[in-house]
Amino acid sequence: MKDLINTNASQLAEEIRTNKIKKEEVFSFFKSRIKKFDPVLKSFVESYDQPVKGEGESSLSGLPIAIKDNICIKEKKVTCSSKILVNHIAVYNAEVIKRLKNAGLNIIGTTNMDEFAFGSSTENSCYGPTKNPWDITRVVGGSSGGSAAAVAARLVPFALGSDTGGSIRQPACLCGVVGFKPTYGRVSRFGLVAFGSSLDQIGPITTDFVDCANLLNIICGHDDKDSTSAFIDVPDFTKALNGNVKGLRIGIPKEYFSQGLNQEVKNAVEEAKKIFEEKGAEIIEISLPHTEYAVATYYIIASSEASSNLQRFDGVRYGVRAKGESLEDLYTNSRGQGFGDEAKRRIFLGTYSLSSGYYDAYYLKALKARTLIRKDFDQAFKKVDVILTPTSPTTAFKIGEKASDPLSMYLSDIYTISTNLAGLPAVSFPCGFSSEKLPIGVQLIGKEFDEFTLVKLGSAFQSCTDFHKEIPKINYE
Ligand code: GLN
Repeated sequence: MKDLINTNASQLAEEIRTNKIKKEEVFSFFKSRIKKFDPVLKSFVESYDQPVKGEGESSLSGLPIAIKDNICIKEKKVTCSSKILVNHIAVYNAEVIKRLKNAGLNIIGTTNMDEFAFGSSTENSCYGPTKNPWDITRVVGGSSGGSAAAVAARLVPFALGSDTGGSIRQPACLCGVVGFKPTYGRVSRFGLVAFGSSLDQIGPITTDFVDCANLLNIICGHDDKDSTSAFIDVPDFTKALNGNVKGLRIGIPKEYFSQGLNQEVKNAVEEAKKIFEEKGAEIIEISLPHTEYAVATYYIIASSEASSNLQRFDGVRYGVRAKGESLEDLYTNSRGQGFGDEAKRRIFLGTYSLSSGYYDAYYLKALKARTLIRKDFDQAFKKVDVILTPTSPTTAFKIGEKASDPLSMYLSDIYTISTNLAGLPAVSFPCGFSSEKLPIGVQLIGKEFDEFTLVKLGSAFQSCTDFHKEIPKINYE
């Protein structure tokens, strides 16, 4: 059998097109890896014996893809890794699923996540945590941790995740793969179970920028079924591959390199900066002065929207229904038994911030802070084309290490959440390894709808580095 592990998805698709390999063989190859390794990693919630087949043609047709467990696939379970939805079957396809199928991709299964995408470690899943393929005593990041781990361990060529405050980028960073969050409005949210409706975006998790560009080509674009979907043309992202980055201005925000940033992470990000400089990009120091308010602002807005979005899970319309003497008991028992601790914490926090007595002091104030954070970026983008930062302040932490301290967990997203508040595109990609051989990632943030420049810079970086080619040594066989 050919070396399918060291071949990216786009090359694999080429081999299928030219009849060097059959798509059925590719499917059973990845399926057998899932069978072999996933009992330990637990990156999948469900992996199908028969793929959900696509029909059309594209540069990726014939390939299997994994989908985060909060994106609806018709007639398949969509559980958001929550007890309250464990038996819920989707009645329609999300727009992204429709597009993948029309592009001839085959869905191989659904991946583990923090319950309703609340978290940064995938420990909040009702199925238990996913383990990091680089060190199984460590977390994978979250909330799209299952997707990131499955791609890193090559249990699947690529996957989709969703990102509300970093949930594609942070797990991609901790697992050593590429995670791309498009501009708000670029990818349809139709059929994505809502967490924070003004923040959520679906995006690709891949091993490199070639696959990332090809997948973006398929999933991006206007959709009438999502009223926040943008009427903006989608470029061919593969045209950005291996482009010239000479003269591009890269901003380095000083606020992102201060205390709390692990030294090894800092060094690797500095090295990445040098590589761009060598390629002719110009490095410019900038300031995003309201960064210190981002975590607080995000957790008020995201929890407010989550508390409202989760109201629909009442035990009547979806999922698990608990017993109750009265209607109120039925609601209380279904929600009480169905939601995990973190979901309850967000509902409390959000309901409180939105309550009439505290609305002005919390929710309204957070909206004002959000505007200031967005204006910081507007100012910065007058001087630079993209912004370079670390993705996560640390490498993958130990499973259980932060589970009992929600505040320290919330700080894992310190570098990723501002971009969701501002609606901007951003990507994390591998830029090094720690002394313990754990992946380190760097983040590029772009102007609104300028995913193209991010792909250009990312692929230029990967054309002269090999970090993305490293595969975790699977010693748990
Ligand atoms: N970790 C952040 C949170 O817990 C972001 C999650 C996400 O992007 N879905 O809210």
